[in-house]
Amino acid sequence: MSKAPHLTFDFNTSGLSRGHLIVPGGADHGELSLPIFSLNKGEGPRVLITGGNHGNELEGPLVSRRIIEWLPKSQTCGRIIVLPVLNPLAVEAWSRNTPLDGLNLNRVFPGRADGSVTQRIADAVSRVLLPMADIVFDLHSFGPTWDLPPAATTHPIADPDLMARTVRVAEAFKLPVTLVWQHNDTAGMFDIVAQNQGKVFVCAEFGGGTVGAANLAIYEAGVRNALIALGLAEGKVEYPTFRKQKFGQTLETHPSDWLKSPASGIFEPRCSVLDEVKQGDIIGILHPMDSLSADSIEILAPGPSIVLAIVSGAHVKANEGVAFLARPLNIQESGADQPARLVCQ
Ligand SMILES: [Zn+2]
Repeated sequence: MSKAPHLTFDFNTSGLSRGHLIVPGGADHGELSLPIFSLNKGEGPRVLITGGNHGNELEGPLVSRRIIEWLPKSQTCGRIIVLPVLNPLAVEAWSRNTPLDGLNLNRVFPGRADGSVTQRIADAVSRVLLPMADIVFDLHSFGPTWDLPPAATTHPIADPDLMARTVRVAEAFKLPVTLVWQHNDTAGMFDIVAQNQGKVFVCAEFGGGTVGAANLAIYEAGVRNALIALGLAEGKVEYPTFRKQKFGQTLETHPSDWLKSPASGIFEPRCSVLDEVKQGDIIGILHPMDSLSADSIEILAPGPSIVLAIVSGAHVKANEGVAFLARPLNIQESGADQPARLVCQ
C-alpha cells in the first residue's frame, strides 16, 4: 500500500516555503517529488499557479520561475502556490503526453490514487493542492505546430456568476486575447474539476512551439497583471503589445470555428493570427504531397471572423485542424470595465 500524496511542508505556515509535492510511486514508476513554492501572507485569495501540464509547452515552467522570483518583493497578502512543472516525465521528454503510459495529464483529472503515473499526478494535485486554492492559473502553450497570440482562456461555465468572475480574472491578464473557448473534448480536464468546485480557473495559452524572449515577457506580464488586479501583489499593470499590434479583445470560439484539412498534405498559411477575414477569404492552402497531379486546395473563411490560431508548419492528415477562428464575445456584460480585485485591499 503506497502512502498518500502530500506536501513536505505545512501550507499554513506563514511566509515563504519551498518544498515538494510528493506523488506516491506505483507499479510503473517510483515516487515523484515535484518542487513547489508557497508564499503565505495571510488573509486574501489563495492562488495556485501551475506549469508543465503538457510537456512540450515550456513557457509555463519558465514564467513560473520568474513569478517565484518576483513574488517575495511584490506579494502583499493572500497565499500563492507555484508548481512550475506538473508533469516532469513529459517535460523531460518534450512530449505533450507522458511517454510511460501515453496519457494526457489534462484529460485524466481528478486522477486515480491506484492508477498509472499520470493518473497519480492528477490525483495528488486534485487532493492536496486544489483544496488549498480559490483561483487556479494553469500556464500552457498551444503546441509546437501552432501559432496563437498570448491568450487567457476559459471554457463556457454553466454557473453564470462563476463564468462572469472567471472572464473578469482572465481579462485582468491584459493579454492580447481573452478567449471563451467552447470545445467538446473537455472530459478529465483540470479546469473542469476546479470549476465544479466553484473555483475560478484561467488557462493561459501562449502559442507556438518556440520559446522566445518577447513572448516570455508578455506571459510574465500577464500573470503579474492578474495577481495585481486581484489585490495580491503590488506593481504596475502592463499592456503588452504583440508583434507591434495593440490588441486586447475578448473573443469566443466554437467547435464549428475549427477549420479542418480536406486532405493529407502540407498546410501553407495565407494569413496571420489576429487578421480579420470575411467570407471567402483564403485562410490557407493544402498541398497534397502523394501525387504531383493532385490539385492544391484552398481553405476559405466561412464567414466574418478573426484568425485566432493557425498551423504554422506541419504535414497534416485529412480532417486535422489547420486553423481556428473566433469573433468578439457576444454574451452578457463581459466585465471589461469592472475591477477584478476580489478581497484584500
Ligand atoms: Zn497545453
